[in-house]
Amino acid sequence: MPDTPVSRPLLLRGGHVLFPDGTSRIADVLIRDGRIADAGDAVATAGDEEIIDTGGQLVMPGLVDTHRHMWLGSLSAGSSDVTLLPYARQVNERLGDGFTAEDVYAGVLWGAVQAINAGVTTVADWAHNLGSDADIDANLRALHDSGIRARLYFGGKAGSSGDHSRYEAQTRRLHATQATRLSGGRIALGLALRGPSMATPAETAYEFGLARELGLPISLHAGMAGLPGAVDQLGRQDLLGPDVNYVHANEFTEREWKQVAESGGTVSATPTVDMTMGLGTHPATGAALEHGVPVGLGADTVAYGPSDLFAEMRLALAAERSRTNAGPIERGEMPGGLRHSHLDMLDLATRGGARVLGFADQLGEIAVGRQADLITLDLSTPHLDGFGSPVLAAFLGAGPRDVDTVIVGGRILKHRGTLTDGLLEKARQEVRSSRTRIRGRSL
Ligand SMILES: [Zn+2]
Repeated sequence: MPDTPVSRPLLLRGGHVLFPDGTSRIADVLIRDGRIADAGDAVATAGDEEIIDTGGQLVMPGLVDTHRHMWLGSLSAGSSDVTLLPYARQVNERLGDGFTAEDVYAGVLWGAVQAINAGVTTVADWAHNLGSDADIDANLRALHDSGIRARLYFGGKAGSSGDHSRYEAQTRRLHATQATRLSGGRIALGLALRGPSMATPAETAYEFGLARELGLPISLHAGMAGLPGAVDQLGRQDLLGPDVNYVHANEFTEREWKQVAESGGTVSATPTVDMTMGLGTHPATGAALEHGVPVGLGADTVAYGPSDLFAEMRLALAAERSRTNAGPIERGEMPGGLRHSHLDMLDLATRGGARVLGFADQLGEIAVGRQADLITLDLSTPHLDGFGSPVLAAFLGAGPRDVDTVIVGGRILKHRGTLTDGLLEKARQEVRSSRTRIRGRSL
């Protein structure tokens, strides 16, 4: 992952810094050449740094969203109170089918604005509404223009079951551009595959073969209620591997968890969508942790849920407590020990997410040599100005409005609560035009 060129070194001075061991203390963070050059009580400065006063703020790693359909940014809050199939008909088909390249650009850019504003510095963009080459370029351009770090999982519009030769040509073309023009390495690629739940065994074998020929990591939806056996099917086809990311995984059987763990696969849990849309009774966070499977969080679709990973962390912890407490409560007992902590959930949204996306040695913690993808939270507001740990206060109460500063690869994308470089204004203009077109088409 090459560095994104940045202009000036930065010194974040005097904030409560969250360190990789889960502790926080008042310290400085030095950023040079887009990476963390030092972090601690007495960092060696050269005097040429731009100083950012982070006094009264929590300085923590940027959030990593491991599963989000970015094109849906323009359709946020576009659907509610429905389960998976009506949702897909309403949003993907009725609204999504007519998307032009301009609509893709506006949706992804607005989606990136929502993510950055909420402290997400890296996103896995599961792009399954790209029909034309222009759509693909628009998606890439929007990710590039926003400044966010991303893994773009390309899925075409119907995978290889649509126009087969076009899907392959588009995948190969996209792969060929990787080395030359994907934002200096800030955007990495992967393939969004339909997998056994949504494709035939022959289509799945072909799509996996293409991904592996090109060395592209794979992400697929699997383990949703009513669609069993995806991992078993991949196992029968000898397609399991460490390059496969399983999204949702709510209803994996014990045998499937073992296969995922043994093959080195990863999981993305999306608590709001998992539970509200009925993909399972609870997210797969705890099951993944118990099976030693790397797991991260995702907002999935902002057309249905929030764009805020702090909300997802809290929901994940509540769901895990509910799941593990269910046994004793049913027996009429008072639950005893706690299996997961708030730090575990913060870990899923930072270091865990980086691991899921294949960036484990690059992102997700404040440590020397890591990419300078950081956020700061203003702790002075009543809901964050607490008695105890600032990290716990942030976990319990933080939301997008508390995110003061967002830095990706040393570049400041949000500062003092405002997105920089006119990004918000530009994205708002694009999304308003796009929504007018979408409304016009759906009348
Ligand atoms: Zn999804």
